[in-house]
Order: sequence, then structure tokens, then C-alpha cells
Amino acid sequence: MQALKVYNTLTRQKETFTPLNPPYVGMYVCGPTVYNYVHLGNCRTFTSFDLIYRYLQHLGYKVRYVRNITDVGHLVGDADEGEDKIAKKAKLENLEPMEIVQRYTLDFRSIMQLINNLPPSIEPTATGHIVEQIEMTQKIMQNGFAYEAKGSIYFDVSKYNEANHEYGKLSGRVVDELISGSRDLDGQGEKQAPEDFALWKKASKEHIMRWNSPWGEGFPGWHLECSVMSSKYLGLQFDIHGGGMDLKFPHHECEIAQCVGANDTEPVKYWLHTNMLTVNGTKMSKSLGNSILPHELFTGTHTLLTQAYSAMTLRFMMLQTHYRSTMDMSNDALKAAQKGYKRVMNGLRIVKKMQYQENLEIPKDEKQIAEIEKIVSEMYEGMNDDFNTAVALAGLLNLLKKINSFHNGVLNINSLDQKTFDLTKNTFISFVEDIFGLREENQADLGEVMHVFLEIYREAKHNKNFEQVDKLRAHFKSLGVVVKDMKDKIDWAFEE
Ligand code: AMP
Ligand code: ZN
Repeated sequence: MQALKVYNTLTRQKETFTPLNPPYVGMYVCGPTVYNYVHLGNCRTFTSFDLIYRYLQHLGYKVRYVRNITDVGHLVGDADEGEDKIAKKAKLENLEPMEIVQRYTLDFRSIMQLINNLPPSIEPTATGHIVEQIEMTQKIMQNGFAYEAKGSIYFDVSKYNEANHEYGKLSGRVVDELISGSRDLDGQGEKQAPEDFALWKKASKEHIMRWNSPWGEGFPGWHLECSVMSSKYLGLQFDIHGGGMDLKFPHHECEIAQCVGANDTEPVKYWLHTNMLTVNGTKMSKSLGNSILPHELFTGTHTLLTQAYSAMTLRFMMLQTHYRSTMDMSNDALKAAQKGYKRVMNGLRIVKKMQYQENLEIPKDEKQIAEIEKIVSEMYEGMNDDFNTAVALAGLLNLLKKINSFHNGVLNINSLDQKTFDLTKNTFISFVEDIFGLREENQADLGEVMHVFLEIYREAKHNKNFEQVDKLRAHFKSLGVVVKDMKDKIDWAFEE
């Protein structure tokens, strides 16, 4: 089987994945700015990295996964001027900024849990690392790559490039383009050059989120937190840095510049970027007003949807597209995913009960054995080819066809050898549960199910079929349920 390959945005090619310090892997993913509910586009990016995290663990790597919470410094418009997104929302709602942060952090975590995205190993916040951000700014200044202007500190891109570094190498932007494309708005008045970016901003009188610093009261620039928290928890060099494609520039470009400027060390070995979730071909985004929120999906209250869809249906839909391709959200795509998800979960129930009988004198079916081995290796090859879940899922559905044929008696399970039987069962279960992170959510309502069985019980009693009545009572008892025969009705309760 081929080794794991990942597409590295920095080198623009697929590379064999060789961690800096195996079996350990350090992975940092830019987390949400918690000023609003996450939309399904955000969910796509975090689910893509959850799948990457799960697969690396499946391969035996010990992964430290750091995903931050941006709770200060991300300004409206993503540039160096304007209000802080969180402070703006706080003012609007007449709340403390930290109340905004708490509300949307909790919402974010509960959505992640519903989609079955595993929690990261560390979830640091920008406001929890102000001291480190000031220290990093000082280091960059000491190295000559930043300057003070009216109480704010800016990164000096031209000094950085003069020192033979290459600002723009990740995103492919050229500094000249940045200059001509810049707007007057971006704090240019105090910057020496439009391509420079803020490490620390002086707080105006109205600005409510502010901390003391050697340069007076202010707050950190948006890009700094990720350089600080990734290096603090993963070291000056680590394996994987991820985020959505829209973060390549300026955010990730600036992260590299800050780390190199402070530590003279290239921070990240593999840069991974997810493609966008779109609606009718346009990127889903809060500012464009075309975002769909998880609760709108779960309740079916968005105009694009004809019905409600569950979190696992959403997850299944996401698996069907490779993370570097765009994915268009539509009612039809969700409907198909809902069907696919149910098929896979039915398969999971079957496969968990499947038993192999050794020592049966049944001739082995070499053709089936070879086909199953081929399907399994295609599933791994898919995942090893830059985490191509679409290919792996297609393989899983082929494996499911085999499983259903065994279940229906079209094929005989005992015509496999024990090794191939184990391979079928273990691969199916571990792909569904551990790697794809799909889980059962269609729990039937116990009350409804009991209602149906009590009807059968009532009928048996009515027909004086006491053998059947006793049998049913015994079944109920083995499930910890007692049937209560009352004068005019029959009810049930859990055995006390
Ligand atoms: P934000 O909270 O805006 O910083 O975004 C959190 C993450 O979601 C970032 O990695 C973004 O790149 C990502 N993101 C935003 N919109 C989309 C989208 N439409 N599709 C996929 N990822 C997105
Ligand atoms: Zn970041």
C-alpha cells in the first residue's frame, strides 16, 4: 500500500507525510471567531480536519491537535482597521464581550459534538495569551522586523524581504500587487507601507477590549494569536497547520512571517487548506447573507430546504467530497446523503452481528476473497491519497454490497477464510465509526416501540394464547421491563 501523501499548499504538491518527530504529530487548525453562530461552511472546514485527525490516529500517530478560539483581535473586514467583531456584537447586544464569547463558544462546541467532531487536545483562547503575544511582538521588534507608530506595532514586510525572506510564498501573492490593491482604509495613515500588518493595535478611547502593554493600552492583531499558540503548544516547528482556503492570505502568510521574524524558524512542515462550501456556486459566508446555520438544517427551516436533515446526514454529505474540492449545498445532495447514511448504518448493524463458523467444510471462494481485498486496499489508498474520503466512501459502499450479499444469503460468509472475514468486519466497522465518525442517531422512540409490542401482548391475552403471553412477558423481563396488567389497561415500566 502506498504511504500517506498530503497536498502541501506551501510547495503546491503532494508529498509523502513524514512527521518531524514520529510517532508524534502536531496539528494546529485555526478555530472560529466566536461572535456569531457557526454556519455550515465553517462546519465543513472543522469536519475536514476532524477526519484528518481521526485518520492520523487510526494510522497509529499520537496527535496533539490544537484548535484555538479567536476571542479578540479579529476586526470587521479582516484588515487592520475597524471594530473588533466581538466588541461590535457586544455593543449591539449590550453585553460584555466575554458574554458574547461564552455564548458562541458553547454553541460552537455543542455543534461540533452533534456532528461528532472530536474535541481538540488543546483549545486555547487569544485572550488567554496576551502576555505571550506581547512577548512575541517584542521579539520581532528586537529582530528588526517591526516598528512602532502612534502606539501601534506593525510588521515591516520590506525589511523582512530584504533579509531574504519571502512574504507571499504561501499564497502566491506578490508585494507589488498588495500595494496596488490596497485600500486607504487599512490603517495606512500610520503604516510605513500598505503591505505591513498590525501585531499590536493601540486602543482608541471607545475600544472596550484592551490590555496594558509596553506601548500603552491596546489589543493584539488577529494573526499573532495563532503564531503564539501554535509555537507555545506544538513547538517552533510542527507538522500540520490547517484552515479554510480563505485564510491563506493574509492570515497564514502573516503567521509564517511572524514566526520567522521572531524565531528565524520556518514554523510549519505541511500547510493544508480546505475548499469552500458553496450555495449555488457562491461561497457560504456570513457577510454575503447566504449562510445556513446548523439549527436551520436540523429543523428544516431554511428556504433552501424542503425538510429537516440530521447532523449525521450532513457529515455523510461532507464525506462524499474531497476536502480540496468545492462542495455545493443543495436539498438534493442532502436527500441523497440521508439515504446513503441510513444504508451504511443498516450495514453496520448487520456487520456487528455477523459470525464466522470455523471448521465448516465449505470450499473457499477465491474470487470473493480477492475482490474484498481489492476493495479494502482501495479504501486505504483513497485515504492515503491526501485524505480522499470520497474514494474511501465509494469503497465502503462496495464493501457494504458484499456484506449485504452475505446477509441475504446470495453469498456464503463461510466461503471466505477467517482472515478475509475479519478484514471485512474490522475494516467496515473502523471506517464507519473511527475514521468517518458516523454514529447511530436514529434511535427509535422506546415508548412507540413498546406501544406496538403491548398491542401484540393484548391480542395474545384476548385470544387466551397463554403460551405466547408468557413468552412475551419473559422477553420483556429479560430487557428489564415489566408488563403491568391492570383492570382496564395494560402498561409497562422499568423493573425496579
Ligand atoms: P471564521 O470563524 O470566520 O474565522 O471561520 C472559521 C473557519 O471556517 C475558517 O477556517 C474559514 O476558512 C472556514 N470557512 C469560512 N467559510 C467557509 C465556507 N463557506 N466553506 C468552508 N470553510 C469556510
Ligand atoms: Zn489562525
